[in-house]
Amino acid sequence: MNIVQSAVPPLPPELLEKFRAIVGAKYAVTDAADIQPYVTEERDLFHGRSPLVLRPGSTTEVAAICKLASEHRIALVPQGGNTGLVGGQTPHNGEVVVSLRRLDKIRDIDVESNTMTCEAGVVLQIAQQKAADVDRLFPLSLGAEGSCTIGGNLSTNAGGTGALAYGVAREMALGLEVVLADGRVLNALSKLKKDNTGYNLHNLFIGAEGTLGIITAATLKLFPRPRAVETAYVGLKSPAAALRLLSISRNQAAGSLTSFELLADVAVDFSIRHGIDIRDPLESKHPWYVLMELSSSRDDARDTLEAILAQGMEDGIVDDAVIAANLSQRQAFWKLRDEMSAAQKPEGGSIKHDISVPVAAVPAFIAEANAAVVKLIPGARPVPFGHLGDGNIHYNVSQPVGANAADFLARWHDVNAVVFDIVLRMGGSISAEHGIGVLKRDELPEVKDKVAIELMRQVKAMLDPLGIMNPGKVL
Ligand code: FAD
Repeated sequence: MNIVQSAVPPLPPELLEKFRAIVGAKYAVTDAADIQPYVTEERDLFHGRSPLVLRPGSTTEVAAICKLASEHRIALVPQGGNTGLVGGQTPHNGEVVVSLRRLDKIRDIDVESNTMTCEAGVVLQIAQQKAADVDRLFPLSLGAEGSCTIGGNLSTNAGGTGALAYGVAREMALGLEVVLADGRVLNALSKLKKDNTGYNLHNLFIGAEGTLGIITAATLKLFPRPRAVETAYVGLKSPAAALRLLSISRNQAAGSLTSFELLADVAVDFSIRHGIDIRDPLESKHPWYVLMELSSSRDDARDTLEAILAQGMEDGIVDDAVIAANLSQRQAFWKLRDEMSAAQKPEGGSIKHDISVPVAAVPAFIAEANAAVVKLIPGARPVPFGHLGDGNIHYNVSQPVGANAADFLARWHDVNAVVFDIVLRMGGSISAEHGIGVLKRDELPEVKDKVAIELMRQVKAMLDPLGIMNPGKVL
C-alpha cells in the first residue's frame, strides 16, 4: 500500500549536520539502501520514504532530536522493531525516522517488587528471557516477539496470546519515561501499583502509536513463573463448539487458562503449506481447531487439561485432541499458530482485519462475515483465526485462487464496509489490538464517539502543537 502523497523536499544540509551531531555520524543513516529496511515492513504492504534515519543511544539524544525537530518543524516517525501491522511506523511522507532499537538496556530488575525497568528498544523476547533469568514471568507474548520492542508494544498497546490471563500491554506497565515533542522528558517511571496523585499521564502514551511522544523506557510488572505449562491442540466442528469448550475451560481452570486460540482449517492449511518444518499435530482433518494452554504454579495443569478435554468429548464438542508431550512439541504447536500471518502472503492478496466482538458473538460474527464477504467477492477465502478468549479475531480474507492480487486489494474498502458493519452491529471494535495507524485512520471518525474524537484531537494539539509526532497516523 503506497500512501506517499507528494514529493519530499530534502533536509537542508546544515540541519542534517545538527541531527548527525546529536547521534554521531555512524547512527545517522542517509544512504538509500541502508534506509530501505526502515521504510518497508515485512509483509511488503506499506512502502514509505525518508531522507534520514536517526538511531539515538540514550534518552538525552532522543530529547535533543525532538527539540531540534520542533525548532525546525521536522516531522518524526518513532520506530521500534518495525513489525506493526497498520503502517504506523512507516514514514509515508518523507518524515525522519527515529529508531529506538539502540535503547536496549534493562535498567533495573526488582525481584521483590516484581518489576523490571526496560528501555524502549529492548526486544520483547529479551525482556521475557531477562524475567525468566530471575525466576519471573513477563507474560506479553506474540508472534513477532523475536523482533518487536517494548516501546512498540506499549505504543500499540499490544495484546497477544497471553492477554486472556494477564491483560494487554497497558495492564503490564506501571510507569513510563517519555520524550515530548518539544524535547522535554516526562519521568513517569514508577514501581508503584498505588499512586493516586492526579491524572494518570503515562497511560495517555500507551496505545498512542507514537503520535503524542516517544517512549524511551518503561517499568513493567513481573509475575510468578508457572511451574507447569500444558498445551493442547483440539479439532472441532465449529466456532460454537470452541466457545462451549472455552466456557468449560474457564469453569475448570479459572485463572490458569492462559491462551485460547481459534484457528480455521484454511489458516492451518496455509501455515502447513508455506511454513518451514510445520506439521499437522492431528492425524485427521477438522473444520476448526483450538490451541489452548494452561499455566499453573502447582503440578495440576495436566490433570485439569485432561479433565477439560474429557468433558468436551463427553459433551460432543471435542472431536480430537492432542496434548503436547514435551517442550519441543509445545513449541511446534505454537509455531503453526505464529506462522499464520506470514503464511497468507504466498496465497496472494490478503485483506486484513483485527476486530473484536463480545466473546459470545464470535460464532455469529464469523458466520455473517463469511457469508457477506463471499457474496461480495465470489471465491474470496476468509481466513479467520485469533484470540477467541478475548473475542478478538484476525478476520483476514485471501483473494480467490488465480485472481489478480491488485484487483482484489482494490476492494479493501468494500470488504471493510461489510465486515465493519457486522462488527459495529454486534457492539465490537474495528481495531482490537493492532491499532489504527494509517490503515484504519479514515474509518475511525465514522465508528468512534464524536466527543472521544474531539478530546483525542485536543490532547494531540496540547502535547504536539506543531504536529511533528508521527503525523497522519491515528487522527
Ligand atoms: P513498530 O512496528 O516499530 O511501531 C508500531 C507503532 O508504535 C508505530 O506507530 C510507531 O510509530 C510506534 N512506536 C514504536 N516504538 C515507539 C516508541 N518507543 N515510542 C513511541 N512510539 C513508538 N500485535 C498484537 O497486538 N498481538 C499479536 O498477537 C500480534 N501478533 C503479530 C504477529 C506477527 C507475525 C507480526 C508481524 C505482528 C504481530 N503483531 C501483533 C503486531 C506488532 O508486532 C505489534 O504491534 C508490536 O507491538 C509492534 O512493536 P514494534 O516494536 O515492532 O513497533
